[in-house]
Amino acid sequence: MQQAEIGLIGLGVMGSNLALNIAEKGNRIAVFNRTPARTKEFVAEAGALAENIIGCETIEEFVAAIRPPRPIIIMIKAGDAVDQQMEQLKPLLEANDILIDAGNTNFRDTIRRFDSLKDTGLTFIGMGVSGGEEGARHGPSIMVGGTEESWKRVEKVLTSISAKFNGDPCVAWLGTDGAGHFVKTIHNGIEYADMQMISEIYGILRDGLGMSAREIGEVFGQWNKGRLNSYLIEISETVLKADDPITGNAMVDMIVDAAGQKGTGKWSAIEAQNMGVAATGIEAAVAGRVLSSQKAERVAAEAIFGLPAPAEKPHDGMGFLADLENALLAAKIAAYAQGFAVMAAASKENGWDLPMPTIARIWRAGCIIRSQFLDEITSAFTKQPDVANLIVTPAFSQMVKDTDASLRRVVSYAALSGIAAPALSSALAYFDSYRRARGTANLIQAQRDFFGAHGFDRVDGKEYHHGPWGSGASIY
Ligand code: NAP
Repeated sequence: MQQAEIGLIGLGVMGSNLALNIAEKGNRIAVFNRTPARTKEFVAEAGALAENIIGCETIEEFVAAIRPPRPIIIMIKAGDAVDQQMEQLKPLLEANDILIDAGNTNFRDTIRRFDSLKDTGLTFIGMGVSGGEEGARHGPSIMVGGTEESWKRVEKVLTSISAKFNGDPCVAWLGTDGAGHFVKTIHNGIEYADMQMISEIYGILRDGLGMSAREIGEVFGQWNKGRLNSYLIEISETVLKADDPITGNAMVDMIVDAAGQKGTGKWSAIEAQNMGVAATGIEAAVAGRVLSSQKAERVAAEAIFGLPAPAEKPHDGMGFLADLENALLAAKIAAYAQGFAVMAAASKENGWDLPMPTIARIWRAGCIIRSQFLDEITSAFTKQPDVANLIVTPAFSQMVKDTDASLRRVVSYAALSGIAAPALSSALAYFDSYRRARGTANLIQAQRDFFGAHGFDRVDGKEYHHGPWGSGASIY
């Protein structure tokens, strides 16, 4: 039997679709799944593509079915399962085989695994894949971390299966060891923020303006034709317009308002905090999901506090809708600027040299946050790859100037109406903190010096670095 050029382990939602995508692009692929019944089922359902697929029931059979040097994609549950799978594979592999972990792995685990294979002759790639089931099947966005040499060996097949934006493949090598998984994590962090901001706008339309799910779907449909054009706005329109087959109500009204999470949003917030980068949109989104899941406590609290009546709208009719559209754009700029700032800091800390224009470029199609907006980010970073913050680039500073008054009105309206808008509010606070040359941390420094003798810098540059606090202070 003709050997496969590539192997894939894990025929769950992502792995099975990725395997079909690989086979469809003319690559011969061997597949293996922990539960063999799934492998049989997968091959049986692959139709004409089964010609390019070798279904293997044992790991030995799987390794033997791939032509050395073997690229092997592992697309299974992240965590210990990946270590176990690697241990099972290692004794069967030969020098120059490449293990490619394509799950949502913490980049610290990727660095550890990359290092553990360094002297074995085997190579490790940590690869972020975004786009969900549909993306995996027809073209995901792929973020690769590993040695440049190992990337060159898999570039052709990954390019063939990736999404394309105007013909440009949405796959790139981003740096060594954990670079690809780190960028995928921040992609997901930004995705959390984007989804939270959209749901806050939905809350204002539903609870403030009293609009039905279908009416809100119409609004999102209109917005999808403009500056907010994106996959997340598009699917929001679709889900808001869907009816529940059981009750006939809007489907979205029948879904419990408690969001799940698997960890990448939390990791993004933790890494941002570790590096001292303000990523308030991602933090607000993670906290928003946590609070959403405390459903019983929220029900009890509403019984105690009740809800305020919606405030008077700042504009009538379409004016406020335009404000909401602009507010979402302004807040989105802050969240993406923060995400890119986290990546810039991580790039320095880990010596990755992450290419910002390339990251924006490979997120324009295939992934969950794909949008027109990312094309504009690509242009901004291409012109100024080392800019300190996206919001000070000419194109984005103009966008912020055009939209920040709307964000102010929307956040005020939400606050006065008792409608939670943590991500939108955090975006406004981030912008107001970032653009004010004289902030208020001089008082914090004075307090720190008072109780902890931490000292401070003086505005006149003079050498005297402690306050004359008198008795009660920890010094003097
Ligand atoms: P899934 O549908 O739940 O499938 C999980 C797969 O992992 C199955 O093939 C399962 O095999 C295998 N598995 C679980 N534990 C294992 C172990 N200890 N040893 C060997 N195999 C094991 O998951 P998925 O959605 O495809 O996700 C796979 C990876 O992609 C995860 O890291 C996920 O975070 C990431 N990801 C998911 C999405 C998405 O939209 N779903 C998007 C991007 C990335 P059995 O059949 O034997 O249980």
